[in-house]
Amino acid sequence: MDKLFYEDTIVALATPAGTGAISVVRVSGPQAISSVDIFFKGKSKLIDAKSHTIHYGNIESNNELVDDVLVSVFRGPNTYTGEDSVEISTHGNPLIAQKIIGLLLSDNVRTAEPGEFTRRAFLNNRLDLSQAEAVVDVISARTDASLRGSRNQLDGLLSRKVNELREMLINASSFVELELDFAEEDLEFIEKEKLVKDIDRIIAEIDNLLATYFFGKVIRDGVNVALVGQPNVGKSSLLNYILKESRAIVSHIPGTTRDIIREEVSIDGILFRLYDTAGIRASVDEIEKEGVIRSRDAVRNADLVLFIGDVDVLFSDELSNELLELSKQEKILKVLNKIDLIHHVETEADINLSAKTGEGIESLLNLMKERALGSSTYSEKTAIVSNLRHFNCLKIAKENLLNAKKSTEDKMSGEFISVDLRSAEGSLAEIIGEVTSEDILNNIFSKFCIGK
Ligand code: GDP
Repeated sequence: MDKLFYEDTIVALATPAGTGAISVVRVSGPQAISSVDIFFKGKSKLIDAKSHTIHYGNIESNNELVDDVLVSVFRGPNTYTGEDSVEISTHGNPLIAQKIIGLLLSDNVRTAEPGEFTRRAFLNNRLDLSQAEAVVDVISARTDASLRGSRNQLDGLLSRKVNELREMLINASSFVELELDFAEEDLEFIEKEKLVKDIDRIIAEIDNLLATYFFGKVIRDGVNVALVGQPNVGKSSLLNYILKESRAIVSHIPGTTRDIIREEVSIDGILFRLYDTAGIRASVDEIEKEGVIRSRDAVRNADLVLFIGDVDVLFSDELSNELLELSKQEKILKVLNKIDLIHHVETEADINLSAKTGEGIESLLNLMKERALGSSTYSEKTAIVSNLRHFNCLKIAKENLLNAKKSTEDKMSGEFISVDLRSAEGSLAEIIGEVTSEDILNNIFSKFCIGK
């Protein structure tokens, strides 16, 4: 690994770059404590401080007070990064924090790159790679469910499952390797049937993990929902009613005439992004044209399309056909609005409701949740795959195992079997970062913010 990471000391603002009650400047590396000590005036020197202690004092530059601060001293290896670390809590003005960072920068101390604190934690074995990736997810989680999911990954639920599978694989392949070592003596340490059974068991476990991906992705990334329908069927009214119903409105992104309106709501812990599309039919008006392009994009990218009709307009065939060009049948939910205006409804709609009285809206929300999650339910203790990189590693491991199984059944030489078993193990190891290229690491950590 890159040796440089261990030799220099890094510094960054760990809190948002605005005003607040406090700001925290974070320092990590061999010179973390001594470099802060140069500017810190307290009861005693930080260099003499015990690990995991907090010290009150002033940060001074040329005998001039910069701020009175609290300094936390952590000595490696039991720290976030595994290195000596210091956190300076200042008054929450970014100017103060920037001044302190400026003071600390020297030949030995430089500003941290995005995610470098966590990268060091990974390189120093404080976290494995899937846990490091979970740090970003914990920070960016917008709903309870996504926070719980990423918290589980950070706590190592997925890592433990992956390590269990690796152990099973190593056990199975060690017999094959042993058999290879004694090839001349024509010994068969493991019966082929047992090996096939072992491989099948591991594949079944991988399948279970792969099956959680759909759920995991929904929990982590949320669900895009496009509201489509002719003018005046009640799209905006429905959107407003859902926002009113939903306990947690996550955000409101105001639209212009060209923009489509997007709202984010959390329904039972799942993030739904609702796009009120202006229309998807071709238009001659320049401004409308732009709106149509955006609306069509919203439908294309939607995980769920609410095709809204009302008791007068119903569902036009033309619009229906256009929708099918942009989306798949199974993603489209037909919603009939304004049922408060009639006594009896008998339509092809999946759901009948009234955005005026609220009748049927609860059922719609339940149906949206059901469609988004499928039939999957997982307990708090289930390892869930929500990251595409992990999903791909698992898929490759499964392919390798299927090859190993085929070679075994075809009575091929143990060498062939062994190569595939080892590749499968390598793919699993990639999830937790035991085998990883610098490119993968750069890609992962570039998504972090500076100071994390
Ligand atoms: P949009 O153009 O599809 O966004 O439609 P709007 O939400 O602006 O609604 C068009 C008109 O229908 C407005 O006058 C609404 O008050 C009315 N409307 C919407 N939903 C209902 C409903 O469930 N029942 C009744 N009676 N009127 C509704």
